[in-house]
Amino acid sequence: PERPAGMAPAPALPGGALTEGEAKRLVASCGIATTRETAVQSAEEAVAAAEAIGYPVVLKGVSRAVVHKSDAGLVRLDLRDDAALRAAFAEVSSRLGPDAEGCVVQEMARGEAELFLGAIHDPQFGPMVLVGAGGILVEVLQDVCMAPAPVSAEQARAMIEGLRVAPVLAGLRGRPADTGAAADTLSRLSWLAAELGPRLVELDINPLILRAAGQGAIAVDARATLA
Ligand code: ADP
Ligand code: MG
Repeated sequence: PERPAGMAPAPALPGGALTEGEAKRLVASCGIATTRETAVQSAEEAVAAAEAIGYPVVLKGVSRAVVHKSDAGLVRLDLRDDAALRAAFAEVSSRLGPDAEGCVVQEMARGEAELFLGAIHDPQFGPMVLVGAGGILVEVLQDVCMAPAPVSAEQARAMIEGLRVAPVLAGLRGRPADTGAAADTLSRLSWLAAELGPRLVELDINPLILRAAGQGAIAVDARATLA
């Protein structure tokens, strides 16, 4: 396959578990859209960040030690004003351990559907990408498709169209989602995996939010471990 346009060299990042922000910088380097966001250390900084980003916003606590932020009470969605944001900041901060690195204020993304995108470097088979039904459904449905990286956008589209969730993405229960943008994102992630090689342990975007057809897709959460 042909390398997608607009892939910058990967930024210098530490080994081990990355923060969501670091993992998003990694995926953004290959041209994947990520949420606008600002790291904050106080309620005042959070309010200033939200005013710059525009309400509604999302507040998340940042800790390398936490794998599932929402399970740990570290994700507060759809905050609509300063008062809601301040309350969320106090609550999330109280749940953060001593290893934490503050909070992040993000734009609240909206879309038609969510997908899970993953990449690993398998010691035997090399770089692989996978895609599946996103959000909480990922573990329940086991609706995933895996392929050796890199994959073209056309190959990525076929992977997505083969999922059991494909009719939902095509608009079974609403407007069709931008599966073309999802395919482009999966292809870019696959090139990132191929270029990182064994430096990549695992990387996932969960979820990628798909807007209506023609409106793009955006990574709202990313997680990565580097060797
Ligand atoms: P976790 O570490 O629990 O996976 P996430 O950052 O994925 O935390 O947040 C949990 C859920 O909240 C996501 O699956 C998604 O549905 C929603 N979410 C997270 N960030 C955003 C955002 N910026 N905009 C809209 N929805 C979001
Ligand atoms: Mg997530």
